Amino acid sequence: MDSRTLPGPQFYTKQKDGTVDQSLSTIEIEKFGEKILIWQAICSCGLKTTPFFTKGTISADIYKKECLNRRLIPFYKKHIVSTIFWPDLATVHYAHSTLALLKDNNVNFVKKEENPPNAPEFRPIEKYWAIVKRNLKKDHRVAENVNEFKKKLA
Ligand SMILES: [Zn+2]
Repeated sequence: MDSRTLPGPQFYTKQKDGTVDQSLSTIEIEKFGEKILIWQAICSCGLKTTPFFTKGTISADIYKKECLNRRLIPFYKKHIVSTIFWPDLATVHYAHSTLALLKDNNVNFVKKEENPPNAPEFRPIEKYWAIVKRNLKKDHRVAENVNEFKKKLA
């Protein structure tokens, strides 16, 4: 909710021989401030799903309902060309009921045993998230709720 808590450097500008206001050079942030989780799928063709936002964790049921049934599966079926879904190794992504739903909908996906751990640089969406986070860091407003956060992301 507070972009200043995202990893990476914070920047400010200073005039030559000028002073920097204390409020800029020292930023107090809440150590365990509210966080928001975003799920979204992107494709190399340029299409992306609408994002799903939550302040909680994503259970297998929420993942199936909000991420797969409402977003990924319709998105996947829009593609005429052969497409493969590449989730990260989060537990819910490979829960038995999740795999059953993907198989029932003929979604071709990277199998858990073929999915490299600790290799985010290989998943294209990680570059997308880096850009999203970089843009969020430019917005210093603290979102008070999910709707305010969505505005920051827009
Ligand atoms: Zn595509």
